[in-house]
Amino acid sequence: MNGWLGALEDARVSVNDRGYNFGDGVYEVVRAYNGVMFALEEHLERLALSAAAVEIDLPWEPARLKNITKDTLGKSGIKEALVYIQVTRGTAPRNHVSDEEMRPNLLVTVRNMPHIPPSLYTEGVKAITMPEFRWQIRNVKSISLQASVLAKRRAERAGAAEAIFVLPDGTVTEGASSNIFIVKDGVLMTHPADNRILAGVIRHFVLKVAGTLDVKSVVEPFNILDLVKAEEVFITGTVAEVVPVVNVDGKIIGGGRPGPLTARIHKGFVSLIK
Ligand code: PLP
Repeated sequence: MNGWLGALEDARVSVNDRGYNFGDGVYEVVRAYNGVMFALEEHLERLALSAAAVEIDLPWEPARLKNITKDTLGKSGIKEALVYIQVTRGTAPRNHVSDEEMRPNLLVTVRNMPHIPPSLYTEGVKAITMPEFRWQIRNVKSISLQASVLAKRRAERAGAAEAIFVLPDGTVTEGASSNIFIVKDGVLMTHPADNRILAGVIRHFVLKVAGTLDVKSVVEPFNILDLVKAEEVFITGTVAEVVPVVNVDGKIIGGGRPGPLTARIHKGFVSLIK
């Protein structure tokens, strides 16, 4: 944290940190496999884009951020890890607009990768849909996550793993913490990377893997009818990679079993990591 290194429980943040008061910051989550972070550069590029979009001037060169992150992971001694990088606008007395020159606060944490039950991939998960009620610049990975927290709580109450957002015209955007793909007539579909979704790092690599496997993909919006009628549905994200969705709002997808294309894509992604 701002150059200080120590145990997570010893870290202290000011009550005047703008992240604490306003959710005024951006972040990244990077997964480390056997001590090596996957796609760290892509994550740091997205962090820079997020920061620029919310007018936070990063005082660190990309190479410096890379070194700080690698160093923190190395010193943690954790091999299978989730590395969290957070930048808030800085510390200042609470005021929406502050004239003060603030230096952004940097926090990098390293935690053990949570256990992922293999059944996640062999059985798949349920999802619910709900109206898209987040803000208009969802391409920014903002730490203001209250809407996503509410969506996840609603999903959990419904016994679902993810909440999928749907716009008033029926367009499906993404999950509360994942991107979503469907298979329609054998073709992979996912929403374009515009301001309506977060351009997921795993989404990007899944599209790449599809190319190498000769799986046709189109980056185009699809709607809720396409979703519930899809041959296969899966969600992607850094923590769990590629997760089959077998039930949406109680409607069975693909016979209620994870689909073959989802498994192929996931396998291709895992070999890419290796
Ligand atoms: N969309 C949202 C809203 C997210 O919060 C996340 C990850 O947390 C993703 C998509 C997936 O992004 P990535 O593949 O970079 O982890």
